[in-house]
Amino acid sequence: MSCYTSALELFSIGVGPSSSHTVGPMRAARDFALQLEAAGLLPGTAAVRVHLYGSLGATGIGHGTPAAILAGLAGASPETVDPSLPALLAAHIAAEGTLEVLGRHPVALSPSDIVLEPRTVLPRHSNAMRMTAVTAGGKVLAEETFYSIGGGFVETESSLAATAGMDVTPAAPAKVLPYPYQYSSELLAICAAEKLSISDVAWANECALRQADEVREGLDAIWRTMQECVDAGLKTGGILPGVLHARRRAAAIADRLEQDAAVRETSLEWLQAFAIAVNEENAAGGRVVTAPTNGAAGIIPAVMHYFFRFIPQEEQRKADNMRRYLLVAAAIGSLYKGNASISGAEAGCQGEVGSACSMAAGALCEVLGGTPEQVENAAEIAMEHNLGLTCDPVAGLVQLPCIERNAIAAGKAVASARMALYGDGQHLVSLDTVIETMRQTGRDMSSKYKETSEGGLAVNVIEC
Ligand code: SF4
Repeated sequence: MSCYTSALELFSIGVGPSSSHTVGPMRAARDFALQLEAAGLLPGTAAVRVHLYGSLGATGIGHGTPAAILAGLAGASPETVDPSLPALLAAHIAAEGTLEVLGRHPVALSPSDIVLEPRTVLPRHSNAMRMTAVTAGGKVLAEETFYSIGGGFVETESSLAATAGMDVTPAAPAKVLPYPYQYSSELLAICAAEKLSISDVAWANECALRQADEVREGLDAIWRTMQECVDAGLKTGGILPGVLHARRRAAAIADRLEQDAAVRETSLEWLQAFAIAVNEENAAGGRVVTAPTNGAAGIIPAVMHYFFRFIPQEEQRKADNMRRYLLVAAAIGSLYKGNASISGAEAGCQGEVGSACSMAAGALCEVLGGTPEQVENAAEIAMEHNLGLTCDPVAGLVQLPCIERNAIAAGKAVASARMALYGDGQHLVSLDTVIETMRQTGRDMSSKYKETSEGGLAVNVIEC
């Protein structure tokens, strides 16, 4: 059994503000439209209805879920969608009551056809949506239930039913991996037996799934998108969308850092500015890399920007360092996805920001010269100090506490990597133990703190 999830799937290029509430629903809606077409049902479809359950119903409006579904039904995919399209389609259906499915077949669809049901939680996952195609006479032509399980990954009723009885998220690559592992203890054993680094193990697994060139190009595209996102965030001021009218801060912080020679090369401030830049782009619905979710998308790129800006290294080693960093992050992220959860709706923010912090800590540790044991230690420290972190976004927007939380977690990731490097990799609490603890804590956490905006800051901060 292996929990390994390819880096090219764990890090997907998409749009903000949420991987589970925006990217996943867009993918699900596109899949539904393609299913209708493949089954020859599109010509007979006169209307489409959508029900959003649980967390999707509770915070879907703030996360842009209905608009993302419209874009998906229209045929857009998160990787290539024009970030302005979802809002344009939302305005269009409000005015016209119609949508062109896959850009070619008009159906009746108005805002009231996307029904929010926050009090109904389907048994398989708290992020559920049901899509129904009906004829002009009201007959149901096709219906599918989708689950957005975090990180933009989507399952259907049938795919989850196939794994019924398991209480962990399955990851079953179709191809045989040279180094399958389910737990970090197994990953460390592989490294020791084969004398490999964690990035070597991940690279070998990736190359069993795709051609080496494709893997390199995919990792390069991910890093390129992360850089573009940071650059855009550091240049853009103004107000974020939504009722909070929150000011964007990354550009102002960067300006101050650039102008003041005394702090220009202060790494902590820049690290935070990088993370805030990404999360402001995400909150504005811009192009981001899901890492491993959109809410937590700032941590992994921020720590990598920190590494390139503040750690002296040979120019010709940079591309290799970048790829190794992403591979280690994916190797660790796979452990979270396969043994616990990376979904805020399932495990609280410890599953999102905690996982990203742990992935970045381990990845930084390896590119700073850490052994596999030190990498495992860094990842463990980072999660240990995110345990219990709740998800309580104010007004259902991925802004408060999310944006600052990424900046703080980026600092924790760097501190965890450095702390691990001062040790020899031997430590009391294993990464496996802390992942299992996170899973149990998430299971026991009240649903108020799992992306429903019914508790915590979400009910104590007055929306203006
Ligand atoms: S509080 Fe954390 S888990 Fe919740 S939406 Fe924000 S970043 Fe995601």
